[in-house]
Amino acid sequence: MNKNDLIFNSKHIWHPYDSMENPLPCYPIISAKGIFLTLSNGKKLIDGMSSWWATIHGYNNPRLNNALKNQIKNVSHIMFGGIIHPAAISLCKKLISMTDKKLEHVFLADSGSVAIEIAMKIALQYWKKKDFEKKFFLTIKNGYHGDTFSAMSVSDPTNSMHQLYRNYLPTHFFADSPKSKFGKKWKKNDINSFENLIKKNFKKIAAVILEPIVQGAGGMKFYHPKYLKKVRSFCTDYKIPLILDEIATGFGRTGKLFAYEHANISPDILCLGKAMTGGTLTLSAVLTTKKISKKISNNHPGHLMHGPTFMANPLACAVATENLSILQENKWKKQVSNINKIFSKYLFAIKNHPMVYDVRILGAIAVIDCKKEINIKKIQYFFVQNGVWIRPFKKLIYIMPAYIIDERSLKKLISVMIESLNSRFFFI
Ligand SMILES: *Cc1c(COP(=O)(O)O)cnc(C)c1O
Repeated sequence: MNKNDLIFNSKHIWHPYDSMENPLPCYPIISAKGIFLTLSNGKKLIDGMSSWWATIHGYNNPRLNNALKNQIKNVSHIMFGGIIHPAAISLCKKLISMTDKKLEHVFLADSGSVAIEIAMKIALQYWKKKDFEKKFFLTIKNGYHGDTFSAMSVSDPTNSMHQLYRNYLPTHFFADSPKSKFGKKWKKNDINSFENLIKKNFKKIAAVILEPIVQGAGGMKFYHPKYLKKVRSFCTDYKIPLILDEIATGFGRTGKLFAYEHANISPDILCLGKAMTGGTLTLSAVLTTKKISKKISNNHPGHLMHGPTFMANPLACAVATENLSILQENKWKKQVSNINKIFSKYLFAIKNHPMVYDVRILGAIAVIDCKKEINIKKIQYFFVQNGVWIRPFKKLIYIMPAYIIDERSLKKLISVMIESLNSRFFFI
């Protein structure tokens, strides 16, 4: 890529949440291997982001590549209507065996946001009597569930895209987000807001939806498992399905294979995505219990109203199967716990830094919550100059590296993160 390519990019290509008139700079990456990204000038960067939770086993992973190559030889894509293929069978068997045993039915979709749409449709169709009497969802503030319309409608009502679209989106119920932090003391009153909403409105509520333990793009906050346990028991008491969005947390990131395991509970509907293919292709899954699928299939019109063109894409299924096989070999547990130890050793030490509001660590996730808004353009230039790839947002500098990262590279990521706190030019 030369200078003209970068000019073409800035003139013609949208990037996530960016302007077409005054876009943030883009860095040209021509290849990636393991935990390293290679810029077009040959410089290598240590990746701290796993491409937004996804590349848990590193880039250009030979096992994942082989799974793709072998599948290409057979069939890259085939419609799923009236057709089944071995890649979908293998993947669904694994998904069913790795998740809670009550989750027996799998819907394979294209992306995380679409998985949320499907989960919400499942809840609506589950209840469908006349005119969707139960058409509202109950969730918690600070959530993030994706960028499509229903997903936006259950994301945080003030700090998300919900705000921009508020006059367009349906209004659901938002409980206060949990204040009891993961690993800290449980405050009994924390559940009051949720409890009041479910008690008062259960007749109108189709499902409860939330991110278990980690609220990701809504602020990178880790909450007390007891909150989730309470939510589960209220859902059970009021016979309301619980949808858990494990799109970010699933597949080991929090130190458990699924974050709901921290609370020893299970959902009625589970959404998976991001790391499922090891960050090679887009694919998501929605798992449900037999009870829910049965009722949908018996309700009018007798089937679930969803069926995307690329449903169960064989390439994505094949590579996801291999990715899950790697996870099933169980190296991730030690990898994530080693990452966690190093995070704890070096990052808790900066808690009293004048620029730091809070440091949060869970599994292979580390967050420095700063006192001021970050100048993304300036700080990112500094990161790249120092050989690391970190993409902060708002007041948060956070990393969630691939599980395979070595100690030296991890320490380098951490030290550059810490160093960035010392320049007031990186803060607004
Ligand atoms: C990223 C994310 C989504 C949306 O997934 P996409 O693949 O980006 O559509 C939904 N929920 C959570 C918790 C996420 O982190």
